[in-house]
Amino acid sequence: MSLRIMPKGALKAWVTRLQSRQFKVVGPKSLHGQYIFDEITDPNDLVLDYPTSVLPPKKFLLPPRETLFRFNARTMESHAEITVEPLIIFGVHTCDMHAIALLDKVHNTGYADQHYKAHRAATYLVSIECLKPCMEGSFCKSMGTLTVPEAFDLHLTDLGSDYAVDVGSEKGEELLEGFSSVWEPTESDYERVNNVMAAKWPHFSYRLECDVTELPDLLSISQKSPLWDELGERCLACGMCTKVCPTCYCFDVTDEIDLNLEKGERVRTWDSCQIEKFAVVAGGHNFRSSRALRQRHRFMRKGKYQYEAFGLMGCVGCGRCAAACLVHITPVDTFNELYRMRQSAKAVPQPQIKEPQP
Ligand code: SF4
Ligand code: SF4
Repeated sequence: MSLRIMPKGALKAWVTRLQSRQFKVVGPKSLHGQYIFDEITDPNDLVLDYPTSVLPPKKFLLPPRETLFRFNARTMESHAEITVEPLIIFGVHTCDMHAIALLDKVHNTGYADQHYKAHRAATYLVSIECLKPCMEGSFCKSMGTLTVPEAFDLHLTDLGSDYAVDVGSEKGEELLEGFSSVWEPTESDYERVNNVMAAKWPHFSYRLECDVTELPDLLSISQKSPLWDELGERCLACGMCTKVCPTCYCFDVTDEIDLNLEKGERVRTWDSCQIEKFAVVAGGHNFRSSRALRQRHRFMRKGKYQYEAFGLMGCVGCGRCAAACLVHITPVDTFNELYRMRQSAKAVPQPQIKEPQP
């Protein structure tokens, strides 16, 4: 919508002002040498030039544990429980913004998820431009997530002494309302933004050996690849890769009832397609009983299924799963290995069929 300039020195005053307007502010802060998204009570704790966070900001839109409704088992009454508060998430990286764009699509398609929608409506997203790779395992440039999608309310770009503040929505305007330490950009401010944006691209490399648009077809023809068995042999089925992933949203649902079996609540908690019991159904059948099948399913979702269902990739290249996996199973290596296997298969000379002679 429009661009403003804010001196970096005004950031703390802005955060304090937002808190006084009854917003809960969360953002990256340091903890034991890593960074987590957490409530910012002291603006000094907010770190906008953090590398990456352990868990993505998804946890505020899809909490790890959430009561969906409460019920009375005797009267059979139930009522939905939706508790939200105005929340500003600061410092969301562009890959995580792409993940939120996917979550928005998923949870608003078909049977819309009213809990997600309520959290999302109450959330203001202040994203930040990534100017250098955040970690070894990230491959955002390959996945096309190095620029911010439209989902942001405000988007910050670090210009050195100032932030360029891109206003993406009316909610973004609302966050700047009445704050005097922002001004309209001049020609030289636009030039500064352009220079910073131009300088950032060479810092990132393409890490996928194929183009991202080739992934759905590559995965289609790799359904029977021996690579899945190799990954299955290595995988510990710990589920960490899905727990840290900004685009994973599978959950389990349990009913918890009090001791006199009267009042209870239905609770949704994060689940993982990588753990053994995930696909156990009635009769004890497990339709994805081997780790190889579960690994295949995971990567099919990341590079094919989500794209086919929602038009967006299920992997945004954040690299968190690569950092979390104790046995070094990573999306980049997996996709690249499948690509190489495909290239070698193509290179094997095919038997020539001779034309019949007249
Ligand atoms: S699959 Fe891994 S790299 Fe891709 S979005 Fe999920 S955590 Fe990030
Ligand atoms: S983090 Fe690694 S070992 Fe654990 S389930 Fe995922 S791929 Fe398997």
